[in-house]
Amino acid sequence: MMRDLVPSRPLPDPSPSEPALSERRRRESNGRLRMTLALIVALLAFPLSAAPRKVDILITGGTVLTMAGPNIERGSVAIENGEIVAVGPSENVDQNYSAKTTIRAGGMAVLPGFVNAHTHIPMTLFRGIADDRDLMDWLTHYIFPAEAKNVTPDFVKWGTRLGAAEMIASGTTTFADMYYFESDIARETKAAGLRGVLGTTFIDFPAPDNKTWDAAVDTARKFVREWKGDRLITPALAPHAPFTVSKEHLQQVRALATELGAPILIHVSETKDEQKQVAERSGGMTPTAYLDSIGFLGDDVVFAHGVWLSADDIRTVAQRKVGVAHCPESNSMLASGIAPVVDMRAAGIDVGLGTDGPAGSNNNLDMVEEAASAARLQKIAKMDPKAISARGVLEMATIGGARALNLADRIGTLETGKRADVIIVDLEQPKTQPVYSVESAIVYAASGSAVVTTICDGRILMRHRNILTVNVPETLRKAKEYRDKVLASLK
Ligand SMILES: [Zn+2]
Repeated sequence: MMRDLVPSRPLPDPSPSEPALSERRRRESNGRLRMTLALIVALLAFPLSAAPRKVDILITGGTVLTMAGPNIERGSVAIENGEIVAVGPSENVDQNYSAKTTIRAGGMAVLPGFVNAHTHIPMTLFRGIADDRDLMDWLTHYIFPAEAKNVTPDFVKWGTRLGAAEMIASGTTTFADMYYFESDIARETKAAGLRGVLGTTFIDFPAPDNKTWDAAVDTARKFVREWKGDRLITPALAPHAPFTVSKEHLQQVRALATELGAPILIHVSETKDEQKQVAERSGGMTPTAYLDSIGFLGDDVVFAHGVWLSADDIRTVAQRKVGVAHCPESNSMLASGIAPVVDMRAAGIDVGLGTDGPAGSNNNLDMVEEAASAARLQKIAKMDPKAISARGVLEMATIGGARALNLADRIGTLETGKRADVIIVDLEQPKTQPVYSVESAIVYAASGSAVVTTICDGRILMRHRNILTVNVPETLRKAKEYRDKVLASLK
């Protein structure tokens, strides 16, 4: 339309040079045609394999910790359709792949997303509600009443959003959860783009989501049916603990898990008090021996804590291929004890790391801090600084957790064919420089806030510290509203 308004200029008078100009244009046009043809011929003649393959994301130039072998000093990771299609030195990978999104990772570490093997994500809304108390006082006077009065589908929705934002910001891409209204948690987890092994709770008293045992069983069946086969969500069954669920009910959950093909998440041997309670009801057995005696254990079971596992228990857990989620910060905050992690690993048990819930037993979901705490606690427990290394706890935070949750075929390392759960950690900071050992810089010097990019299943959830899948300001506003509601409910 605009062009119509411009008066067309009268053509200049034909001059003797005109035929020459036309000839040049004709030759130019011919030349362009010849070049185009030559390009087509060249492209056809060129072997197809030599052309760079188009992928979705190429991370290049970072120190790549594949967690499956030696680190790659200047490495690249190529991602297509949510899968890792190449990992190796940048000089090789970058020649063969070109990407829609290229992420330059110079001065940064590239590693598998962290696996938080035990938490209760909506409890972010109870963060700091009652710290520095005995476990029983904390549970009976704060957590149980606060949950009874406040936990609804809306509560878990906002709590999951808050927790998801925190996990994405600190590099966690997979988490194992045990809570109520787990289907609502699954929806929020999927929307945030995170991977979850999500356990619907079974407990022998009325819970916020199910007032009776039969209702909990019905909910579990529906929940597993709804989510089984989902790319990101693994539905699981979560009987609370051997002292809060009867023997008959534990056996019922075991049968249900086998029938539905769903893993079991359970708190086991967290405190000395639990050991005592289980011994009283089982004629002196440890919780592990008791669970084994009722046919409960298997490779689809994950213990949270395992603080008080005996040498016999460790043998049983290894034999039955049960995974363990070690929660050093929760065990420290609640003075539960120090789990025999070095012995468990030596026995061949798959040990991951978990933050546990952030309500008076942590109080955050930062897996880098958790790894550092795990290392320090084992050094003290063994009175040996060599008890476990930075590399060892990083393994627990990634592939160890993936193995414990039976997801190691898909995640936990950066290897071709695995799902693309990748994080980038910025080490160009006063807190982390200079870097002599990248594992040491991450575990002992950095924290989760050094994570700048988080990718799960090939989807970028955070870039340049910008969270892309959760509305953070709205979620923080809701969290504050819930704090006021919770405080009023406890008066
Ligand atoms: Zn827990």
